[in-house]
Amino acid sequence: MTFCFDVVTLLPKVFESVSEQGVIGRAFSQKIAQLNIHNPRDFATDRYRKVDDEPYGGGAGMVLKPEPVFAAYQSIKKRPRKRVLILSPQGIPLVQSDLKRWSIEHDQLILICGQYEGFDERIRTLAEEEISLGDFVLTGGELPALTIINGVTRLLSGTLGAPESLLEESHVDGLLEHPHYTRPAEFLGMKVPQVLKSGDHQAISKWRNQQKEQRTKIRRPALYEKWLLRNPSFQKERNFTSTSSVEFLKSNEYDPVDDPWLD
Ligand code: SAM
Repeated sequence: MTFCFDVVTLLPKVFESVSEQGVIGRAFSQKIAQLNIHNPRDFATDRYRKVDDEPYGGGAGMVLKPEPVFAAYQSIKKRPRKRVLILSPQGIPLVQSDLKRWSIEHDQLILICGQYEGFDERIRTLAEEEISLGDFVLTGGELPALTIINGVTRLLSGTLGAPESLLEESHVDGLLEHPHYTRPAEFLGMKVPQVLKSGDHQAISKWRNQQKEQRTKIRRPALYEKWLLRNPSFQKERNFTSTSSVEFLKSNEYDPVDDPWLD
């Protein structure tokens, strides 16, 4: 069944390129996913089609009115396996496992985008989850919605030519992915690690696993700590006792010079 994205937005044009570009565009043209836009302005009832108003109590900026957003939401044909998300910097930060969960457990995502100073608090009651792209503020929920559309669509069956790549990438097993190299074997004096040219698949796999761990430990100590806690066997092997990831890094004999990122 085609996965359905229904976006409630005042800026429909932002979504025009979704179905035209690259891998995601192809998924839309092949009907793996479809996109419907619902503009609250089309549901405003006054003669100026007003969708915002001043905040009660005063203050800077305008607030998205509840009536046109509720009307736009109510016009959407809902599927039994729908999930309703509202985009907000006050939400739970988006992670890869959310994208995976929505792609598996649901076949329709309704994405409500705010604008202006934000939305009237009562609009929040429409959503089952409030999602943030991170601890920063954008002018609207459109880029976060596009991010979710992209991240979910690439997980849908048939979107990627080589779906096995989904199993090995960053954040799938809690670690960052290992480094990649392609030809030439030497570029500007920088050489491809010998092991990758050895043809020894076991040695390559071992090297890649070590690199995944090292990269995560150095770049994202909190992620690494979480991964270790979920993998008690590794925890023991690596003598993991510290409660603070910073202390843990200091106490470890790991040599960051090995990490190409730090070269
Ligand atoms: N006044 C709001 C606050 O301080 O929480 C911010 C409003 S922001 C200017 C306008 C809209 O952009 C929000 O309603 C939301 O839909 C979207 N937005 C901004 N930053 C976001 C983020 N980090 N994640 C998700 N949505 C965001």
